[in-house]
Amino acid sequence: MKETLKKYFRMNRLPHIWCPGCGNGIVVGALVRAIDKLGLNPDKTSIISGIGCSSRSSGYLNFDTVHTAHGRALTFATGLKLARPDLNVIVLTGDGDATAIGGNHFIHAARRNIDLTTIVFNNNIYGMTGGQYSPLTPTHSKATTSPYGHIENPFDITELARASGASYVARGTTYHTWELINLIADAISHKGFSVVEAITACPISFGRQNKLGNAPAMMKWQKENTISVKAASKLPAEQLAGKVVIGELYRRQAPEYTAEYQKVIDRVTGGNGQ
Ligand code: SF4
Repeated sequence: MKETLKKYFRMNRLPHIWCPGCGNGIVVGALVRAIDKLGLNPDKTSIISGIGCSSRSSGYLNFDTVHTAHGRALTFATGLKLARPDLNVIVLTGDGDATAIGGNHFIHAARRNIDLTTIVFNNNIYGMTGGQYSPLTPTHSKATTSPYGHIENPFDITELARASGASYVARGTTYHTWELINLIADAISHKGFSVVEAITACPISFGRQNKLGNAPAMMKWQKENTISVKAASKLPAEQLAGKVVIGELYRRQAPEYTAEYQKVIDRVTGGNGQ
C-alpha cells in the first residue's frame, strides 16, 4: 500500500477478510484515492455500510464509521446527514444490501436527493451470506438459490437511481481503476444524492458457480464487455447490445434535501432556529 494512503486505514484491522482475487479492495482503494484527491478532512467524513462482503470496508477505514444492519446503511446515513449536514457522508453497500433488503431506502433516498454518496459494489451475488442470487444477478446465472439458473430480470441500478431522483449517476469497474477514482471523486463533490455502481469481480461465490474463470479472467470480462459513454454515444443501439456502458451517465442540479429542510426551519423560527 502506498505510504501516504495508510492514514486512511485502520492498519491494526488488516489484513482484510476478502478472498484472494476479490475486487472489493480495488473499490476501497479507489475510494481513498478519491478522498485524497479531494483533500477531504477525515474528521468531517463519515463512512456508513450495511452488511455483506463489501460492507466490511467500513471496519478497515480510519474515519468515523458505522457498520449497520442489513439494508439499512442509507437510513443511518440519512439521519446523520440531517443532524450534521456539514459532514461528507459516504455509503458503502453491496448489490443485495442496496437493492433487495435496502431497496425501498435506496429509492427514497434518491427521491429526496439528499446529499449522500452511495457506492454500490456490484459483484452480482450475495457473497458473504452464501452465494444466493440478488436483484442484480444476470438472468440465467447460477446461484445457491438457483442451481439451474434463475429466471428473474435484474435491475439496472443506474436506471433505478436516475428514475428515482438521484442527481448524479455513474458506473465504473475495477478494471478501469483510474476512471473509478474520478467517478467517485465527482460523486462526492456533487451536491445531492449520487450513486456510483462499481462492477467488481467475485471469483468465489459468483465466478465459481458460473464457471467464469479466475479473478484475472473476470477482470478481462470487464475490459472486453464495457464501453465508455463517449464511445457508446457514437454507436447505433444494435451495436451496443450486450455492452455495459461506463462513465458518468447522468447529472443534474436539483434542490438538496438538507438545504430545503433548513429553509423550513428558518421559515418557522424566523431564521433563529437550529
Ligand atoms: S465471496 Fe466474493 S465478494 Fe465476498 S470476499 Fe469472496 S470474492 Fe469477494
